[in-house]
Amino acid sequence: TTSNGLPYQIAVIPGDGIGKEVMPEGLRVLRAAAARFGIALALREIEWASCDWYQVHGEMMPADWKAQLQGCDALLFGAVGWPATVPDHISLWGSLLKFRREFDQYINLRPARLFDGVPCPLVDRQGRPRQPGEIDMLIVRENTEGEYTNLGGVMFAGTEREFVIQESVYTRIGAERVLRYAFEQARQRRRRHLTVATKSNGIAISMPWWDALAAEVALDYPEVTVDRQHIDILTARFVLQPERFDVVVATNLFGDILSDLGPACTGTIGLAPSANLNPDRRFPSLFEPVHGSAPDIYGRNIANPIAMIWSAALLLDFLTRGEGAGRAAHDAILRAIEAVLREGPHTPDLGGDADTTRIGQAIAERVVAGC
Ligand code: ATP
Ligand code: MG
Repeated sequence: TTSNGLPYQIAVIPGDGIGKEVMPEGLRVLRAAAARFGIALALREIEWASCDWYQVHGEMMPADWKAQLQGCDALLFGAVGWPATVPDHISLWGSLLKFRREFDQYINLRPARLFDGVPCPLVDRQGRPRQPGEIDMLIVRENTEGEYTNLGGVMFAGTEREFVIQESVYTRIGAERVLRYAFEQARQRRRRHLTVATKSNGIAISMPWWDALAAEVALDYPEVTVDRQHIDILTARFVLQPERFDVVVATNLFGDILSDLGPACTGTIGLAPSANLNPDRRFPSLFEPVHGSAPDIYGRNIANPIAMIWSAALLLDFLTRGEGAGRAAHDAILRAIEAVLREGPHTPDLGGDADTTRIGQAIAERVVAGC
């Protein structure tokens, strides 16, 4: 329960496509873990923030969406987007990106781990497939500023003098808080290593500034080893030497790229979870799988629900501040995921023939049984 003794309020937004198929399995495991570890949750399912809702109402969310989420501690989100009926820029900007912006979710967290039982697309220098334990990283992306601004424009369009400018904006507060968050995460992990992504050899004003700020924050974390890498070589090393990485922190654009590349290095997109955090807890944080609504497989109940289930585990851990029951519930879910990946059943993306529901049931059973 929360500090005032009330259950945690969770808004549940299945969204579109396979979001609607994986969410019930996320909830099944969330409920099982909450029951076992004595965490009181009040779950409220929401049908807006979906393209179905848009078809009826002509917008992705009701005008009073913020008021409707008043008092909510976290959002569990499936996937949004159905390009056949609603253009992606409308569905995305009308829901997910609104949450990120309005709820100041300035940290985007994406763990990427290789599991036993999941074929890895990467090989080592001898050509052997990478082993579990060789890839275990946490990507921390700045989620609200940097390269993603609308400042700029096209000038003298259609003339010989045509040019375009798009600004990047980094604030000291914005950059420092993401760096601090990443150092905190690194400090709590076994290897205590942080890689700071940069490009100060090419982007000659903002990136040296970012490097200097990282060096300044590093003084407060003497137990963390830091290494600064240019984004170009960093991406190459993700593929060639993934074992070098523990926590990786990056600006919005670089983090966006790395947080797709990281999970891609570990097998299927069906496993990758993410958290959009407002660590100050002034606003709710949002937990969602990295994958989208996957229209190509929707309706067959074959989507891998593990990314959704792992996202629910991240939610429990964050709600309880990484302590006590929430951390135990998170760890129990992770152990159950590991066991099911190792021993089966598997969905088709992992070469099996089990359906979405079967995987959710198998993981929930193991959470209840404690193995
Ligand atoms: P975005 O939402 O970022 O635009 P997208 O719509 O381009 O992403 P996804 O919906 O993530 O892409 O799907 C990409 C591919 O991965 C598709 O072929 C899809 O079937 C597959 N895929 C995505 N999620 C899963 C899952 N949970 N299980 C199995 N396959 C998946
Ligand atoms: Mg999509």
